[in-house]
Amino acid sequence: MADKYDVIVIGAGPGGYVAAIRAAQMGLKTACVEKWVNKKGKVVHGGTCLNVGCIPSKSLLEASHKYTEAKHDFGDIGIDTGDVSMDVKKMMARKDKIVANLTGGISSLFQANGVTALEGTGKVLSKGKVEVTHQDGEKATYDADNIIIATGSVPVEIPPAPLTEGLIVDSTGALEFQETPKRLGVIGAGVIGLELGSVWNRLGSEVTMLEAMESFLPMVDKDIAKETQKLLTKQGLDIKLGARVTGTEIKDNEVVVQYTDGKGEQEQTFDKVIVCVGRRPYTQGVLDDDAGVKLDERGFIFVDDHCRTSVPSVYAIGDAVRGQMLAHKASEEGIMVADIIAGHKAEMNYDAIPCVIYTAPEVAWVGMNEQEAKTAGIEVKTGSFSFAASGRAMANNATEGVAKVIADAETDRILGVHIVGQHAGELIAQGVIAMEFGSSAEDLALTCYAHPTISEVVHEAALAVEGHAIHMANRKKRKKQKA
Ligand code: FAD
Ligand code: AMP
Repeated sequence: MADKYDVIVIGAGPGGYVAAIRAAQMGLKTACVEKWVNKKGKVVHGGTCLNVGCIPSKSLLEASHKYTEAKHDFGDIGIDTGDVSMDVKKMMARKDKIVANLTGGISSLFQANGVTALEGTGKVLSKGKVEVTHQDGEKATYDADNIIIATGSVPVEIPPAPLTEGLIVDSTGALEFQETPKRLGVIGAGVIGLELGSVWNRLGSEVTMLEAMESFLPMVDKDIAKETQKLLTKQGLDIKLGARVTGTEIKDNEVVVQYTDGKGEQEQTFDKVIVCVGRRPYTQGVLDDDAGVKLDERGFIFVDDHCRTSVPSVYAIGDAVRGQMLAHKASEEGIMVADIIAGHKAEMNYDAIPCVIYTAPEVAWVGMNEQEAKTAGIEVKTGSFSFAASGRAMANNATEGVAKVIADAETDRILGVHIVGQHAGELIAQGVIAMEFGSSAEDLALTCYAHPTISEVVHEAALAVEGHAIHMANRKKRKKQKA
C-alpha cells in the first residue's frame, strides 16, 4: 500500500520547500515532489529561484558590479588597480558552484527536518490523491490529507521573438553566456530585464532595452523611477520606452529586431537578444481532469486569501497563484498554509511585501507609491532625502539615489517607502517592519539610528515628512519636503 502523508507538496521552489519544512516542523508527516533535473541529470531542489532565478542572477550581478568598481570606481578612492579584466567563464563557474551548494543544502534541510523527497512529476488526481511519475516512467500514487501545489512559473515567450539557440534567449539563457556579446538587445525593461541588461552592460556589451510601455517602472514611485532611469542611462543602458517589438530575423548569425515606436517602424541589429517580457504560471500536467481545481481567467490557480483552492484541503502558493512573482512572497504563503494545515491561525499581509531590483544602485519599495495613493483617493504627505547628503554614503563613494516615505496626511500612517540607492534592498526592511507594525512616519522619525549608516537616509526621509530633515540645507528642497 502506498504511503500516506498529512501533507504532500508539489514543487520544491522557495514556496514548496519552505512549506514542506514548516509543515514537518509542525509535526506533520510531509513529502515534497520535485521534477527539476540539472545539467548532470540529477533531480535538484530550489526551483526557479535557486537554479535559474534569484541566486544565479545575484551571483552575476555581484561579480559584474565588483568588476565595474575595480575598473572604474576604485581610482576615485585612491586604489590603483592597473588593468582589470573579467574571466567570464570563471564568473559562470562560481555562479554554478553557489547554485549547487544551495540546491544541495535544501536536500539536507529536508533530511534534517524529516521531509520525504519524492523525485518525479506530481499530479493531483483528486482530493487527497497525488500521482508521482518517476524519472524511469514508473508511477506511484500517494494519499495525503492535504496537498499544496507550488509549481511556480516559466518565462513568457512572444511570437515576434521566438527563442533561437544561442541568439534569442530567455532569462535562463542569459545566465549562461560564456562570453560578453558586443551588441545585446533586451526585450522588456522590467525587473529581470534591467538586472540581466546591467550584468552584460557592466561587462562591456552595448545594451539596448526595448520596452513597449511609455512609462519606466510604473510600479515604482515616479520620483524614484525617474532617478533610476537617469542613473541606469548614465551607466550606458540605452532604454527605449514605447518601443514594441514586432518581429525578429536571423541574418548571418545576427539578430535583426523590428520594433515600432512613436516615430514609426524601426530596426536594430544585435549579436544576442534576451526576451524578458514576464513570466506565466506553470500548471501544465499537475492537475488531472478530475482534480476539480479551478484556474482563474489568467491561468493562475484560483485561490482565496489563505491560498485555499476550489477543492477543500488542496492549497496553492507562489508564482502559480495571483500576486507578485517573488520568492519571499512564495515562502511566506508556504509558511501560512503549513500553519493553517497544522491547525493554527495564519494570515499574509499582502500590503507589506518588499520588491527589489538588484541594479547598482538597487531599487527597492514596499507599499503604495504616491500616485497609487492619490488614485485611491488618499491624501498623502511625503518626505524625501538624497543619498548625496549622507555622510556614510559619501564615505562609501555611493552618493547616488534618494529615499522617499509616503504617509497618510491625516493619520501619518506609512503607506509606502520607495528607495533607489546603495543597499536599498537591505534598507527597505525598515519600511516593511514599520508597515507591518502599522507605524506612523513620526515613529520612524523618532527612532534612534546608528551613525554613520546608510539607514539614516530613511530616517531623514521620515523626518522630512514634516519638513524636519536635519541634514538638508537646500532651501527649495526644505520647502518641498513638506509639499
Ligand atoms: P518555482 O521557484 O518556479 O518552483 C516551482 C518548482 O516546482 C520547480 O522546481 C519545478 O520544477 C517544480 N514543479 C513544477 N511542476 C511540477 C510537478 N508537476 N511535479 C513536481 N515538481 C514540479 N524573486 C525574488 O524574490 N528575488 C529575486 O531577486 C528574483 N530574481 C529572479 C531572477 C530571475 C532571472 C528569475 C527568472 C526570477 C527571479 N525571481 C526573483 C522570481 C523567483 O524566482 C520566483 O518568484 C520564485 O522562484 C517562485 O517560487 P515558487 O516556489 O512559486 O516556484
Ligand atoms: P516584468 O513583468 O517586470 O518581467 O516586465 C516585462 C516587461 O516586458 C513589461 O514592462 C512589458 O511591457 C514588456 N514587454 C512585453 N511585451 C513586449 C514587446 N513585444 N516589446 C517590448 N516590451 C515588451
